[in-house]
Amino acid sequence: MLVVMKAQATAEEIQAVCDHIEVMGYRPHPMPGAQRTAIGITGNQGEVDRGNLEEMSGVAEVIRVSKAYKLASRDVKEEDTIIHFAGTDATIGGRNLAIVAGPCSIESREQAFAIAEKVAASGAQFFRGGAYKPRTSPYAFQGLGLDALRIMAEIRDTFGLRIITEALDNESLDLVAEWADVVQIGARNMQNFSLLKRAGRLRMPVLLKRGMSATLDEFLMAAEYIMSEGNYEVILCERGVRTFADHTRNTLDLSIVPAVQKHSHLPILVDPSHGTGKRDQVLPMARGAVAVGADGLMIEVHHQPEKALSDGPQSIYPEQFARMMDEIEQIAPIVHRELPRGIHVETAATKPHDSSIR
Ligand code: PEP
Ligand code: MN
Repeated sequence: MLVVMKAQATAEEIQAVCDHIEVMGYRPHPMPGAQRTAIGITGNQGEVDRGNLEEMSGVAEVIRVSKAYKLASRDVKEEDTIIHFAGTDATIGGRNLAIVAGPCSIESREQAFAIAEKVAASGAQFFRGGAYKPRTSPYAFQGLGLDALRIMAEIRDTFGLRIITEALDNESLDLVAEWADVVQIGARNMQNFSLLKRAGRLRMPVLLKRGMSATLDEFLMAAEYIMSEGNYEVILCERGVRTFADHTRNTLDLSIVPAVQKHSHLPILVDPSHGTGKRDQVLPMARGAVAVGADGLMIEVHHQPEKALSDGPQSIYPEQFARMMDEIEQIAPIVHRELPRGIHVETAATKPHDSSIR
């Protein structure tokens, strides 16, 4: 159920409707839009009893949302969600492309800084690097954990880059939330519902990667899990799905971009690194991703990929990343986008901070 407020509804009227929804035993999710505020209702087992919501002051209409996902849906919010990063000009969603670049794993301070310097020089605004790695083999490199988070915090202080890194479980979620700017939930955890709910209790952006065999509905329902707990800053990321094809590691499904954009207001990035698994396919698929209208890219970059402790074969060299930026900059205007170069930081970094679970 969705309560659509009148365009001229006051903050008090919106609050009164939210209070009333709580009294009814449900959870209100006010979603301000450019034209009007809509209030999503969750917490109901079956049909929501409309009560006298329709008669309340400032209410335009009360409508049933037929889709399984509500808060992620365009029915609740027509305009694209744009996520802002306090104290900077960086955004994810909207006109500017968001470029996330960095190694698969943080391997050492030297390695991380060497790569960060290069991707910052090419104009990336976000730095990625695994601290906690979901590896197929328990004997493979598992990540440097907290040491990696500390290295990335230093990278933020030095280059201004905002930090995106994966949380694998409850314990790493708390640490990543404390040290990073965006918490990544990986493909293998896309349906780890308890982790999704916990991420939903954070008040910071969550980047949710598509599961290896997830349908569009399953992907959006995973986002809904996060949003249903009150965290509306969800960024989706297509990273390829499993198919019979063996010329790539995964099959990058670029068609999910317009499909997501039709049904959801959430931003969607594309990761052609995991999506192809092959260095020479990353640049062409990055161009394609921008051309189909992705809100940004996640790219694995390594200065010595032959020595990388994870995902070397799909990591591009810094020079290739620089070329990619030049090429997508030219494609961007055709799809009404712009590529910002570099991040402007107005206020000093505030991390590590208390982004504790509410
Ligand atoms: C990653 O981005 O480092 C990663 C492990 O990706 P995925 O969850 O898509 O496999
Ligand atoms: Mn990787």
